[in-house]
Amino acid sequence: MTSDLTPQRVLRQWLLTTLGELGGSAPTAQALREMERRYGSHLTPGDWEGTERDNEPKWHNRTRFERKKMEREGLLVPARESRGVWRLTETGSDEYRRYRGPIVVPPQPTMTRERSIDPLQPDGNQSPTRIEVTTQRIVRSTAVAEYVKRVHDSTCQICGTRLATPTGAYAEAAHIQPLGHPHEGPDVSSNVLCLCPNHHVLFDLGMLHITDDLIVIDQHSGTPIGRLAERPGHEIERRYLEYHRTHHGGDGERS
Ligand SMILES: [Zn+2]
Repeated sequence: MTSDLTPQRVLRQWLLTTLGELGGSAPTAQALREMERRYGSHLTPGDWEGTERDNEPKWHNRTRFERKKMEREGLLVPARESRGVWRLTETGSDEYRRYRGPIVVPPQPTMTRERSIDPLQPDGNQSPTRIEVTTQRIVRSTAVAEYVKRVHDSTCQICGTRLATPTGAYAEAAHIQPLGHPHEGPDVSSNVLCLCPNHHVLFDLGMLHITDDLIVIDQHSGTPIGRLAERPGHEIERRYLEYHRTHHGGDGERS
């Protein structure tokens, strides 16, 4: 299976951004590790397959290939000169900055302003106290979320929006029966929808519910706003929809 590999141009953007943000250079292993930390959740199962030659993950191999191409284009210092360190050239750094856009420094708040502008405006806190807390997180399967997003090509199942970004389209995996207590929904693809951020929030807040015929109903007006898009390979189990309809997220818990 060599289908659905992350495109070379995307690997290039990731590498450029990673090196740029590491100050322009990093040893090979660190560059790859840092790319994985930042973009690992976008990598496909195909990217993780080993190459025939030495079983190195394909995306490592393809990133090295891209690095060589970038070297030929003058974006990276030639490998024989940089001794195992991947280093952006002047041109490479310019390319990174152009891609990132100018770094905007937010204006400092002026302290001289009259405090009576709006008596309700909160003062905030210039030096918030830090406390240590212990939390329990549910470990979700990235694979399930990534699978559902891939099946739908990161397109919202409610409105059809597909948010394009330089590192690939952005969508969210929304659990129908939430995972957390007291809902205890399962982390399986038949309990997950691929939604845009807006519809994810509305769905979690119970502003929308979905009938067994997959009609999306606006909870406020009671009117249908459309039909949930379906794709082969992603079946939605009706019992989760029913759970959502009967417990429609009154606590506003995000999932
Ligand atoms: Zn949407």
